[in-house]
Amino acid sequence: MFKRIPGTKDILPEEALTWQKIEEASRKIFFLYNYREIRTPILEQANLFNRTLGENTEIVQKQMFLIPHAEDCYALRPEGTASIARAYIENNLDKTSVFLKLYYLGPMFRFERPQKGRMRQFHHLGCEVIGTEEAYIDIEIICLAGVILEELGIKGYQFELNTLGCSKDKNGLKELLNDRLKDNLQHFCPECKVRFNRNILRILDCKKKACQEIIAKSDISHTHLCPECKAHFHLVREGLNSLGIKYRINPYLVRGLDYYNRTVFEIKHPGLGAQDALGAGGRYDQLIHELGGPVTGAMGFAFGIERLLLVMNNTPTDNGKDLVYVIALGEQAKKETLKLLVNLRKSGICADTDYTSRSLKASLRGAGNLQAKYVVIIGEDELKKGTLTLKNMLSGEQKEIKATDLIQTLKTDIKCCARTPAGN
Ligand code: AMP
Repeated sequence: MFKRIPGTKDILPEEALTWQKIEEASRKIFFLYNYREIRTPILEQANLFNRTLGENTEIVQKQMFLIPHAEDCYALRPEGTASIARAYIENNLDKTSVFLKLYYLGPMFRFERPQKGRMRQFHHLGCEVIGTEEAYIDIEIICLAGVILEELGIKGYQFELNTLGCSKDKNGLKELLNDRLKDNLQHFCPECKVRFNRNILRILDCKKKACQEIIAKSDISHTHLCPECKAHFHLVREGLNSLGIKYRINPYLVRGLDYYNRTVFEIKHPGLGAQDALGAGGRYDQLIHELGGPVTGAMGFAFGIERLLLVMNNTPTDNGKDLVYVIALGEQAKKETLKLLVNLRKSGICADTDYTSRSLKASLRGAGNLQAKYVVIIGEDELKKGTLTLKNMLSGEQKEIKATDLIQTLKTDIKCCARTPAGN
């Protein structure tokens, strides 16, 4: 028997309803904030990620799903930003408006050791604003992330905020860290010893207690920032304060990817356990230019959908449908049911049957299991008279109506087609 690959998941219909809820809620908020959806391929040239995330990042070093090919090496995308930057340049999207607000939803792939909240195939729900360095965008994006969480009914999260400064400042920060940490190098874990030389900022992300203790003593403040970056960060904080958005400044929050600069943020939730970030993001003002595009500021963030699910209240709700279940008693009735179902569905009414020759009692039980709101019974007698029996499953009320009146009765009296399928 085949099994799913560790770190992947089957999203079964019951759970898929909650996924649809998340997707619908976030699409609604992105719409209100005037974002438009972008869908990029899951496969990209591996080099796109090597170049943008950085050769020395953990994702590139250890976590990429690579597909070597005669002509090139492809990768299953580990994140969305690099692909969107590529698409922005390749499709000349800078020509379409002053700045572009894009959102995306979809699977990402990282070869990690699976654990709670850490998958090999997981899903991002994220957005990017390309075309401006304005701090107001940083504020709006952080605000937007909070609004999505509110819409999903998620509480108890905390924003952590920091600035890395421009590339010069970032180099200053690396030097500062080098200076503060070098005397303690022997006490770091083996990975951090490697990070010290390859990607020193990443040391700050280490979860090991011994490393954290040394880091906590390193006392990094914002001394590495130039006046412009200080002013930018000041504006971001002022804006967040004016909107009443609570956050904690965390000077140790660096986000290990090469492309980040200036504002970076993370949204933490104590309900998640060790992998405590619900989402994260930041500015990447050099990335578009480095990939061959125009000089332009940009910022984005992504939530991990699996982690949103871990902290959402997932009490099962109804299936979101006003299902009309048809029970056909006898062969002739089954034939009539075929036509009846086509007409019900054409009228926008969700309808079903199982075409089995069960007893009325068993079929009613089946309808109940499917959470049908209404049952239509067609038997020999009804066929002769041109009528149907309509049963309201909630009230138990049952009445005989003319077959030709069914759709109108359902539409007007019962208003069963008031809802549309999820996502529409
Ligand atoms: P990152 O691109 O690493 O900043 O990730 C953004 C968000 O995606 C994180 O805050 C998590 O919520 C989620 N995420 C990242 N990696 C994984 C993973 N391996 N499994 C599940 N969710 C993840």
